[in-house]
Amino acid sequence: MSASAADGTVNTHGADGPAATGDGTRAVRAGLPDPVKYEPTLPGPVFAAHFHLPGEPTGPYTYGRDENPTWTLLEQAITELEAPGREDVETLVFASGMAAISSVLFSQLRAGDAVVLPDDGYQALPLVKAQLEAYGIEVRTAPTGGDAQLEVLEGARLLWIESPSNPGLDVCDIRRLTEAAHAQGTLVAVDNTLATPLGQRPLELGADFAVASGTKQLSGHGDILLGYVTGRNDEAMAGVRRWRKIVGAIPGPMEAWLAHRSIATLQLRVDQQAATALALAEALRAHPEVTGLRYPGLPDDPSHAVATQQMRRFGCVVSFTLPTRERAERFLGALRLVDDATSFGGVRSTAERRGRWGGDAVPEGFIRLSVGVEDPEDLVADVLRALEESAG
Ligand SMILES: *Cc1c(COP(=O)(O)O)cnc(C)c1O
Repeated sequence: MSASAADGTVNTHGADGPAATGDGTRAVRAGLPDPVKYEPTLPGPVFAAHFHLPGEPTGPYTYGRDENPTWTLLEQAITELEAPGREDVETLVFASGMAAISSVLFSQLRAGDAVVLPDDGYQALPLVKAQLEAYGIEVRTAPTGGDAQLEVLEGARLLWIESPSNPGLDVCDIRRLTEAAHAQGTLVAVDNTLATPLGQRPLELGADFAVASGTKQLSGHGDILLGYVTGRNDEAMAGVRRWRKIVGAIPGPMEAWLAHRSIATLQLRVDQQAATALALAEALRAHPEVTGLRYPGLPDDPSHAVATQQMRRFGCVVSFTLPTRERAERFLGALRLVDDATSFGGVRSTAERRGRWGGDAVPEGFIRLSVGVEDPEDLVADVLRALEESAG
């Protein structure tokens, strides 16, 4: 499923560096500076609150809340993945996915504006909704599936899309929604956390912003929090940059460097995790106690048709429902290779009963399972064994 030159994109590394046309090549070289003799390929983290700055205080590096060379390389790497070949696009990195999301919403919206959010998106969105409303912004919500956000779009300043949605794994037609939004002057942001830029490139589908949590599969090891916003290098992005400076929601250099290092294996991880997720979904489909099984890569999944139009890989999250809360808890307790933990996208498989948090509109027995890089046979066998052993 890896991309090729057939997708028409070419990325160059530096002015005369090697062209990367496949996702693996692009990921392993993303954001690397031109080679310098005796310097490492990926320079280490730059720890600096301030930089030597005699005379006029102009950039590129002045104060550590505004810029950092380690961010610059990571931002370049993410741009190369989200928008290969585009010179007019930039990325800003943040302390977390929520910092990135809030920076777009709060920098673009004013009192009196209307915004459309998904009603089945990330669990912190209801908190954001309450805060936006407190600032006099009208918040409309609609489900991701069936492109239902179209029905409440009229006159909105910003449309917020999360596709696939977390945790329900519904998918909407990003290009269709974006065209309708742009026809009336509405900006569009897409939360690309679940897909990663190797799974989906929202800017190519027309969106103004690709926003994501780098905490999940992008960095993939469950050891850092990070977020980013990618968009055209214009006034809107200048607003996002200004917001980052005002709020100071910046990543530490160590986190930025770890994320950059981890991107080198992104294609290996997303391909392996997607293949195993599909194998697991196929194995679960036959199980009598499993209902509501969702994985956009399953040919008969309700999301599959739209997902194949706009996604290049289908992600590492499989969701399904067991009959009761107790049944789901016994299953989670019986797993050996899957940790009972929240979040997703890491190299080690995790699963949780999503209803334990409240906030998501899911059944009590709903399980969100994130597939790691274990051998597919081991993982599938562990899940099926745990289902058997925890039955009855
Ligand atoms: C986790 C997540 C976020 C928030 O990211 P943090 O890094 O935890 O702040 C936002 N959107 C989606 C879809 C997520 O899964």
